[in-house]
Amino acid sequence: MSWKRRLRGALDGAARVAGVLAAFERRRGAHPLVLMHHRVLPRALCADYPFPSLVLEAELFEAEVAWLASNFEVLTLEAAFGAARPTARRCCVLTFDDGYADNFELAAPILERHGVRGVFFVATDFVGKRERLWYDRAAQAWRALAVQVRERELARLKLGAHAAVGAAVQALKGLAPAERSASIERWESEASPVDSAQFAPMTPAQVRELASRGHEIGAHSVSHAMLPQCDDAQLERELVESRARLGEWTSARVTSLCYPDGAHDARVVAAARRAGYKLACTTQPPGPESVLEPLALARIDITRERICDLHGRFDPLSLRAELAGFHEVLR
Ligand SMILES: [Zn+2]
Repeated sequence: MSWKRRLRGALDGAARVAGVLAAFERRRGAHPLVLMHHRVLPRALCADYPFPSLVLEAELFEAEVAWLASNFEVLTLEAAFGAARPTARRCCVLTFDDGYADNFELAAPILERHGVRGVFFVATDFVGKRERLWYDRAAQAWRALAVQVRERELARLKLGAHAAVGAAVQALKGLAPAERSASIERWESEASPVDSAQFAPMTPAQVRELASRGHEIGAHSVSHAMLPQCDDAQLERELVESRARLGEWTSARVTSLCYPDGAHDARVVAAARRAGYKLACTTQPPGPESVLEPLALARIDITRERICDLHGRFDPLSLRAELAGFHEVLR
């Protein structure tokens, strides 16, 4: 991958000098940029994390937030897309999916140190019942399987013999929900015991506290189901019940939603509207001149790979190029 990064770094520098980045920034228009994050962890826990694109080291995240706070107006979704947007400055929104404990323990204090607030999308069974998310269960079980069991499962998933944990979990997403659950249960029954402390969620009290400190709490379904796969009754439950539960926890009106895995279609969007959501996030990157669709907002995925230089240090130019959509032309 490093030649790619090297090329990207060289192109970013040339693009800045030539004014190309500024042109991309203008082309992206005046819409607020919505940035996607999942987890912020101490460096030691990042190295071995099964999904590297979902985690940022705390120091790197702090550097990102410091740069954003001095170059953008950082707002919540409600403030950025509400009628009374307070500023003419370029603005961005920092979102966090799922509801992990590290969002409360590490991410929120970093945001607050820099005087900004974030948006936390919380899956309510993860937080309320402390049910681990299905892909964390799958990844942990996978790593605790004996080699010959993994080989058997890889053949079942039609993957090559050296596929990594991320590929195995990705393959599960393509299965029907019942078949996916059966696979995870089979893996867990054959795996050696795992310690799931590093996949812990926030508590409802912490969700409440985030809201009271000015962060926005948004819904992320009840069970982190892929919503297009749900029948009408489950779809409604995932959207209505999660919104109601978050309203109870925070004593606030919940108006924003993030589709789990970004998965949505016209039926899901219509159900979100009926359930009372005003804004909903996908995982699609914004197009150059994207039309603003409040219930299908684009987001820019912030990963370590995309905002660091070759030495793993925060690189403001990479982040700027990422936000401008310049890196999209290289993908
Ligand atoms: Zn999620």
